Amino acid sequence: MKVYQNSTHHQVFVIGAGAAGLMASVTARDLGLDVAMIDSNDRIGKKVLTTGNGRCNITNESTAMGTEEAVALARKYHSNNAGFPLPVLEQFGIRQTIDFFFMLGLPLISLEDGRMYPMSLQAGAVLDIFQLALEDRNVPVYFKNKVLDVTVSEEYPRFSILCQNEAGEEHVYTSEYLILCTGGLTAPKTGTDGSGYTLAGRLGHTLVNPVPGIVQLKLDYPHLKELSGVKFDGTGRILVNGEVIRSEFGEILFTDYGLSGPPILQLSRKAAFYLAQGEEVILSVDLMPDRTEEEVAEFLNGHWRIFGHRTVANSFIGVVNKKLIPILLKEAGIGESDTGLLCRDLTEETKHTFIRLMKQWAFRVTDTNSFTNAQTTAGGIDTTELTEGTLESRLVPGLYLAGEVMDVDGDCGGYNLQWAWSSGYVAATALAKRVAGV
Ligand SMILES: Cc1cc2nc3c(=O)[nH]c(=O)nc-3n(C[C@H](O)[C@H](O)[C@H](O)COP(=O)(O)OP(=O)(O)OC[C@H]3O[C@@H](n4cnc5c(N)ncnc54)[C@H](O)[C@@H]3O)c2cc1C
Repeated sequence: MKVYQNSTHHQVFVIGAGAAGLMASVTARDLGLDVAMIDSNDRIGKKVLTTGNGRCNITNESTAMGTEEAVALARKYHSNNAGFPLPVLEQFGIRQTIDFFFMLGLPLISLEDGRMYPMSLQAGAVLDIFQLALEDRNVPVYFKNKVLDVTVSEEYPRFSILCQNEAGEEHVYTSEYLILCTGGLTAPKTGTDGSGYTLAGRLGHTLVNPVPGIVQLKLDYPHLKELSGVKFDGTGRILVNGEVIRSEFGEILFTDYGLSGPPILQLSRKAAFYLAQGEEVILSVDLMPDRTEEEVAEFLNGHWRIFGHRTVANSFIGVVNKKLIPILLKEAGIGESDTGLLCRDLTEETKHTFIRLMKQWAFRVTDTNSFTNAQTTAGGIDTTELTEGTLESRLVPGLYLAGEVMDVDGDCGGYNLQWAWSSGYVAATALAKRVAGV
């Protein structure tokens, strides 16, 4: 059933009441604009509630220490248009984020690796504070409104936003300016189904192929079931055509489908990117990252010499996780009938295979887990179509983008929310300047 009521008008509409939309709305209101928000959900920031394991890793202060803060921070971001994040981060970086939340009444604390959280360690507190800020400023939020289409005209009021409510009724909202903060494709249950890409597409924008970022990797490996649950501190390396693309150290976890853990999540956007291009992607793990290959060789050869009377399997006890031992033996060509093989009988070739496995155990990556499991979307609306440092569309004057909807994604550790805060602030500030004619 189609019911067109009188349209509701505001000077600025922000589509998406997630992290970027909330920042954009509060900032726009503080700069004197008549702003309102629309979201398909029945509450603000549904995704924010799930962040940082329910604690909300708001930002990361480890790049806020030096004088070149914005440059250091920009290295944490990825885009086809590599220089695009910096002018945004220069205007609103980590210090400004800490001050902004303090000003709203939300003190932050720093935990591991500079990761910052609300003092109460509750993601819900971030939303409660934003809710209070919206109420203090009388910013209306039109909930349960899914935006189906946006059209633009030369005539006042310029933007027409067609929405549908839960009952299937349609309503048109109008505005002079629009900030699109519809997020990407991750965690679709939180309201992000990629429909923002369609809306931007209807306005002429193009999409840089979105792939899951900060996500687990699936491997083609026959022994995953036996290895599932094994954790170790190691280095993971992504290789394409034999070249190391990126490496990360930390706790790596075998699962029954592949690998997980912070280094794997950090490496995943590169893997997803090259897989989407049809490249063969290899994930190599280093089980002894604090030793060079020569040091590993010296250590293992010494160990096998001293304990020459022990079986090879027993020589690895206490050296690697016990669950890894039978798999390493299989990888080195020691079959079940040879499990009694003694260290003193190891051939030079098999010793060399073990040493290589310790330093570069290679697996073929077949896929990433889906957007449902991912924390961010790599890819999105092409940022070459936005003006650097204002986030205004070059194609549709008066349209701004903020947050994950565009082709910018950050590393794990609070950097994606930081992008939402930075870009939300910059879009709203640039818009306010435009309205004021400065
Ligand atoms: C499980 C998980 C944990 C994470 N943890 C962290 C963390 O600790 N630190 C960190 O920095 N990042 C984290 N992230 C990433 C971070 O949450 C996102 O990058 C960030 O929320 C993006 O903000 P956004 O405002 O661009 O989009 P979102 O927060 O995704 O908000 C988009 C909003 O737009 C609305 N919307 C979309 N389409 C429409 C439409 N057609 N009509 C109406 N409304 C629409 C949605 O309902 C949603 O409310 C995590 C992500 C996940 C999934």
